[in-house]
Order: sequence, then C-alpha cells, then structure tokens
Amino acid sequence: MTAPLSLRELDALSVDRLHGVGEERRTSLQEVEIESVFDLLTHYPRRYVDRSREAKLGEVSPGQEVMVVGDVESVKSRRTRNRRSIVEVSLSDDTGSLRLVFFNQAWRSKQLKHGLTVALFGKVDLYRGQLQMTNPLVDLVGDRTGRIIAIYPQSGKAGLTTWDIGRWSTEALRRCEHRGIVEPLPSHLLDDLQLLDRTSAFRAIHQPNSMSEVAEARNRLVLDELLRVQLVLRIRKMHRLETASGIAHRCDSPLLTSFLDHLPFELTTAQQRTMAEVKADLKTEQPMHRLLQGDVGSGKTIVALHALLVAVADGHQGALMAPTEVLADQHYLSLAELAKGLEVSDHSTLMGSRPVSIKVLTNRITGAERQRVIKGLGNGSVDLVIGTHALIQEGVTFSSLTVVVVDEQHRFGVEQRSILRERGRPDGKWPHLLVMTATPIPRTAAMTVYGDLDVSTLDELPPGRTPINTFWVSDNAETVWQQVRSEIAQGRQAYVVCPLIEESDKLDADSAETTKDLLSKGELSGVKVGLLHGRLSAIDKQRTMETFREGRLDVLVATTVIEVGVDVSNATTMVILSADRFGIAQLHQLRGRVGRGAHQSTCFLVTTDEVSEDAEARLRALEESTDGFALAERDLELRGEGTIFDQKQSGRNDLKLASLARDRVWVERARDLAATLVDESGSLEQYASLEDEVRWFIERRDDDAENLLRG
Ligand code: ADP
Ligand code: MG
Repeated sequence: MTAPLSLRELDALSVDRLHGVGEERRTSLQEVEIESVFDLLTHYPRRYVDRSREAKLGEVSPGQEVMVVGDVESVKSRRTRNRRSIVEVSLSDDTGSLRLVFFNQAWRSKQLKHGLTVALFGKVDLYRGQLQMTNPLVDLVGDRTGRIIAIYPQSGKAGLTTWDIGRWSTEALRRCEHRGIVEPLPSHLLDDLQLLDRTSAFRAIHQPNSMSEVAEARNRLVLDELLRVQLVLRIRKMHRLETASGIAHRCDSPLLTSFLDHLPFELTTAQQRTMAEVKADLKTEQPMHRLLQGDVGSGKTIVALHALLVAVADGHQGALMAPTEVLADQHYLSLAELAKGLEVSDHSTLMGSRPVSIKVLTNRITGAERQRVIKGLGNGSVDLVIGTHALIQEGVTFSSLTVVVVDEQHRFGVEQRSILRERGRPDGKWPHLLVMTATPIPRTAAMTVYGDLDVSTLDELPPGRTPINTFWVSDNAETVWQQVRSEIAQGRQAYVVCPLIEESDKLDADSAETTKDLLSKGELSGVKVGLLHGRLSAIDKQRTMETFREGRLDVLVATTVIEVGVDVSNATTMVILSADRFGIAQLHQLRGRVGRGAHQSTCFLVTTDEVSEDAEARLRALEESTDGFALAERDLELRGEGTIFDQKQSGRNDLKLASLARDRVWVERARDLAATLVDESGSLEQYASLEDEVRWFIERRDDDAENLLRG
C-alpha cells in the first residue's frame, strides 16, 4: 500500500486532474485562487443547508422564520412605475407551494430557472391570502443529496457555482480515499485535544452528516492552520536561541545612573518592571527579541530610550526606526529632550567625555548633512540615530550597532529586520531588538503575529491623568463648539481633527484648511486657531506645534498627523469630525492626545451623515471604554483579522478558517503544542511529516524558507 498523501503532494496536483475541469474551468478556478487539489480542499463551505430542519411548504404558517426546499415552477419579472424591479417566483414541493418576491434583484430571474431545486431562508408572510417570502436568502442545492448540504462561496464573475465546487471537492475526496491524507500528529495528541484525524476532518467539513460533525471538523482544521503558523514561529525562535549571539552589556555606567537620576518624573511600576526585563536581556549575549506594548500614553518612549542608552553608555550605538518621517521627527524631539546633558566617555577629547550625539536619518536629510550622519554612524561618532526606512538603505553601516528599537513593527517585515542586523556590526553579532507597538494587540493576535518575541507590557498609566469622557454627538454639534469655547475661556486648549480623506495628503490638507477657515469665521470666531497637516514643511509644522505648546494658539485644527507623539497637557478637548470614518485604534490614538494633565478632558466624536452599523459599534465602543487592550479585542471582533495583518505580514492568508477573535483557545493550544513538538535545536526531527509540511508551507508563500526559519 502506498503512503498517505501529504499536503505537499495535494498541492502539487493541479485541479485540471478532476473531471470537468478543462482549460476554461481551470482559469475560472484560478481567479478564485484555487489551483491545486489542496486549494480546493481548503476552499471551505461558507455555510450549510441542514435539511433535517427543513419545513414542508404545506406546513408553514405566516410569521414563521423557516428554511424550505422546493423546485422552481415559474419566474416572472417586471418593473414598478418607479422603476423598481420585481421578480416573482413560484416554488413547490410535494406538499404545497409558496410565492417568492425579490425587490431590486433583477438578476434573480437569470439565477432561478424552472425546475431548479433551491433552499430558502426567510420569514413567511401572508399577502392577499397567499403565503409569500420577501427577499429570502437563496442557496442553490442542485442535485446534491444528503441531509446536510455544503454551500460554497460562489463567484458569479468566475462563473463558478456552489455545486461545481461541491462536486469537485467530493471527487477529490473520493480519489484521496485510497491513500488517505497524511496525519502528521501522533494519535495520543489528537486524543488529548479530542480532535478528528485529518482525513476525517476534510471529509466531514465538505460532506457532513450532522452539524456537530462540522464543528468537530472545523476544530481540527483550525488547529492545523494555527499550528503551522506557530511551528514556524517556534522553530525560528529556537533556532535563534541556539545560534545567534550578541554583545552582553554592562548596565551600571555613570551615564545610565545620571539618566535615571534626572528623569523629570517618577517611573511607574510598569515602567520599572519593563526596564528591568529589558536590562536583563541586554546583559546577556543572547540577543534580545522583545515586544514592548502599552497603551497610548503609557510611557514607552522612556523605556526605549533607556534601552538605547545602555548601548551608548557601553560604547556602542543605538538606532530607533519609525514608520514615517513625522514619527521619526517626533521621536527625535522627545529623545533629544530626555537625553539633554548626558555625556558619553570619549578618550579622544580633552575632558575624556562628550555629549551624547543623536541624529536623524530620513529621506528629508540630504546632501552634506546626510553624508555627515552616515559617516558618523560608520565611525561611531554618532551614538544614537532615529530614522525611517532610510536607515536600512544601501550605504548605511554602523560602527557597532547593538540595540535596535523598531516602532510599529507591523509595518516592517522580517527581511528588513535582518538587513539592519547585517549592517549592525562588522563581526556579525546580532543587535538586541525591541519592538514597540503603539496599538495594543489582543493577546491571541500577538501570539500569532509576534509569536517569536518575548513580551513586555506597560499596563499602567502614569499618575495624575484624569480619565477622558467620550461622547458621540450625531446631531447637535453646536453644543460641542460651546464646550470648546468654554474650555478656552478657562485657559484650556483643544484639538479638532478633520475628516479623514482616503490616502491623499493633498485632499487631507485641503480638508483641514477648509475646516479651519469655516471654524474661524463661524463657530470659533475670535478664537486663535492654528493649522497642522502633513503638507506643511517640517519647519512650519514644528513652529505651529511650538506655538500651540506655548499656549499662543487655543485650537489646533489638524489631520491625523497629530495621531502620535503630540503631547500638550493643557489641551483638554478633542473634537474628531466625521469620526465614523476612523477605525477604533485610530480613534483611540487620537483621543490619547488629551487627558495628559490634571484637568478633566473630553473627547467628542462628531458625525453628520447617517452612520453604518459597524461605525456605530465602533463609536459606542469608544464611548464605553478607554482601555486600549479592551478596545483592541473589540476591534478584532468587529473587523476580524484585517486589522492585525497587513500585506507584508505573513499569516493573513494562512488563516482561511481560523479566526483570531473566535478561536482564541485554539491559538493557545496551537502555541503550546508547537512548544512541545519543536526540540531545542529548532527542529521537528521526531515528526518528519510535520517538518516537511512546515517547509512546504513556507515555500508556498514564496518566501525564502531558510531565512524565515532563521530570521
Ligand atoms: P507612549 O509612547 O507610550 O504613548 P510616551 O512615552 O509618549 O507614551 O509618554 C506619554 C507622556 O507621559 C509623555 O509626556 C511622557 O513624558 C509622560 N510620562 C512618561 N512616563 C511618565 C511617568 N512615569 N510619570 C509621568 N509622566 C510620564
Ligand atoms: Mg509614543
């Protein structure tokens, strides 16, 4: 007997091996990303028609929500006087008949043909004495039999119906029967987790005998997806632990002591704990690989600077990489301020020491200045650099880069991380890495996206902050401006964030200008209003911020450039216009610009148009909570994985069935399982077929497999 089919083998089998898949069908399938038998088997049903719960047409009564199955008898379509389309269908089974009415779905007349068997979900009404369903949910059942019928995501455009897909997956499963599909997990583990074997799971998800079988199959296949991701992360981690080495730092130099002694505030317990965790990492040759997460305003900057200074104090260099120029500049300002007066020893100088040298490197820095910075990084005269992607450009090398802080890591890929590493030191020692995220990430998502990182969390805000009151205002915006004026009369300041315009700096800037003009002439006349947007020159931006900070402006009208880093404790009111256009995380970040002082702060979420149900849920969430972690969980529930992954981040497409919001327990189980399966050297030696599966999985993503496992 031949060995069971591996996923690699299933993925190497083209769908055109199946009956009825010729050139044309192959192309259609390709459009929905089904090329191999593996793709087909993991093209999971969207829902199921459970015929055991089917009502007979002769038995339904008005007011009932039911599922019925019947044959199409006749189809008529017409238009009303005001051009609305109406399609009327008559449906029958062996017990009776039912009238269906579809408004504004003209295409139904093409979809529903005489003799077709369809399943319908909906509410039964009585119309002129006849039973009727209006705009029901329709599933084409075709000639498929069985108690439970799988309904696949269809693609009208590609011309594929749910029963085409159903037929092919049935055939594929039948042809796999003889060899079976490989089971890479030992049976005792399956038993422990009460999971079906893989062959049964694939069969049951496509051809279930009961809905409880679907649930069981789903668990197994969800675990499969999550486990593959966790295995990659685990292998990478173990590999790094075994092979990578970095520089062990001293952490008790006068520079650090002086820095900590002269802080403008007392560290929170969370900051102290986190700094201690970072310090413990930096003391060893094992390169740090840590995620620092904390809510907006929790004080991450100081933790980052502390880590960077450990390198500097020890005669090495630190780099902070930010995703945008604005952010890099803002980080530069706050780090330079905090590091003021710090000296690093330098025996080439008369006094044996010199001020810590901090530079910016972004695409804005050009010409001679750029050359100077690059040279300084190469010869070690620059100690700390804050930059953007410019830091990993060709030609930038460091004398001895030993601590790297990456802000908002999710916008950088693994590769970019490794470029920085390679340029870091001539001897190939790895820099210590601290990844900061401004957006709290739900635990399970962190495990999936950042699974190979250790995590430190700032779960405490500095003292003296008053909680922000948040109100969604959808009709009477005048009360908002009254409130703003009254705060100003008491010496406070306010921000007004303008409607977000998709992806266009130019339009964003225009909208901000218009808003500013309207407000200064109208609701806020007599008030000193400033303007801040991404199209202003760096100097202008800086000047405006300074004027606002000094209190010479009352109101700052801004685009989302103020999202991060702006810090004026006298500002107590945040007005966000067209708040329904922003996501939860962004609203939370924006709101975090106020509530930084002892005065009561308020955030107004203003909407003018009718908002969607989703937007309403987001705005309500913001009203109800100021806890970034709770909001992140809510966001995940509302929006799904899209908020967590971006294109560069592997993982999103790997999860077809699993949902980080719904399958939390399985994320944890997968993680635990990965930890027991991968050995200390980062291999799966005892589980050959699983090891092969992981390799195949990485190769399939077109990534450099070796690098990913090592990175
Ligand atoms: P994050 O980057 O986490 O949003 P920041 O590092 O920008 O937060 O800090 C937010 C504000 O809180 C800054 O003005 C900072 O100076 C201040 N801050 C940080 N830590 C403390 C503390 N322990 N006590 C008082 N203020 C603090
Ligand atoms: Mg910050």
